[in-house]
Amino acid sequence: MSRHWSPIVHKLAPYTPGEQPQDRSYVKLNTNENPYPPSPRVAEALKNCDVDRLRLYPDPVSGGLIKAIATYFETTPERVFVGNGSDEVLAHCFNAFFCRDLPLLFPDITYSFYPVYCGLYGIEFRTIPLRDDFSIEVSDYTVANGGIIFPNPNAPTSRLVALAAIEQLCHWHADSVIVVDEAYIDFGGESAVPLTEKYDNLLVVQTFSKSRSLAGLRIGYAIGHPNLIEGLNRVKDSFNSYPLDALAQVAGIAAIEDLAYFEDRCRVIIESREALTSDLKGLGFEVLPSAANFVFARHPDAPAKTLYQALKDDGVLVRYFNKPRIDDHLRITVGTPAECRTLVEKLRTILNRA
Ligand SMILES: *Cc1c(COP(=O)(O)O)cnc(C)c1O
Repeated sequence: MSRHWSPIVHKLAPYTPGEQPQDRSYVKLNTNENPYPPSPRVAEALKNCDVDRLRLYPDPVSGGLIKAIATYFETTPERVFVGNGSDEVLAHCFNAFFCRDLPLLFPDITYSFYPVYCGLYGIEFRTIPLRDDFSIEVSDYTVANGGIIFPNPNAPTSRLVALAAIEQLCHWHADSVIVVDEAYIDFGGESAVPLTEKYDNLLVVQTFSKSRSLAGLRIGYAIGHPNLIEGLNRVKDSFNSYPLDALAQVAGIAAIEDLAYFEDRCRVIIESREALTSDLKGLGFEVLPSAANFVFARHPDAPAKTLYQALKDDGVLVRYFNKPRIDDHLRITVGTPAECRTLVEKLRTILNRA
């Protein structure tokens, strides 16, 4: 508490990111980072950067990167917005579209940054409970609202909503903006990007942090009708005109142009996820069907918090949420096959001990 804080700062409840401990090396399966390096073309592009040019401000509209993203999605640059990580893109969405008289809707179990942005921008919200099997049922979202947002697949549950259901939402709520946060869509889901050509109230947000192995560079983007993109640009240019630095723009272009590397790494992670799921089931875990680069699992005989702590003591980090409905679950990032094997062997030992 400080008497120098503005009234809104007193009331903020900030987001807590997953642990990034610096004290020792861990098998890090707690923040859904990609276990593989970015495309070799990224290293090449950064090596060729002229450091002298860092004197200059970067392109404020990230034109080259926007063009590369538009090409990847076979769309036009006026339908693309980029920001400093998708977290920043999402924050601008809340500011641009959700400050309304009616409440924003999102699931009760979801990305915990959403209520934080509501606090920052003074947005009223209403949470809609996931079904008992942790699925999002769009027919629960029929109430009047000032917007709808959810990740697809959802985090931390990893479950996917079908495109037909997303289309229903767009159709029912033509006066609201529907934001689909596709941070994990490349690991087996079908993107709603093509639907944005048909529905002017649908905005799809994606990131380079997970499937393109660039969490450290902070690149996120949104795709939707040019009117929505213009709304985001109005917020951006009222906040920070240069959200992406020059290196991020160059590296982002190299990453999205290397389609073969991207597709290959996603395929390997999906294969590892299926192997990890079956190994965990072999140890007695219940594992939700995942379309992401993580799994959400519970063991009927071992408290999640105990497993989390025992794994941490053993040098393996996973994510435990001390929250109602999910405090019996662990969220485990899919690592390399070797990392997954280490996790499974440590779990086997811990469970046998108990
Ligand atoms: C990781 C994640 C993001 C944030 O990604 P950045 O681009 O790194 O900011 C957004 N939404 C969800 C659901 C995520 O899990």
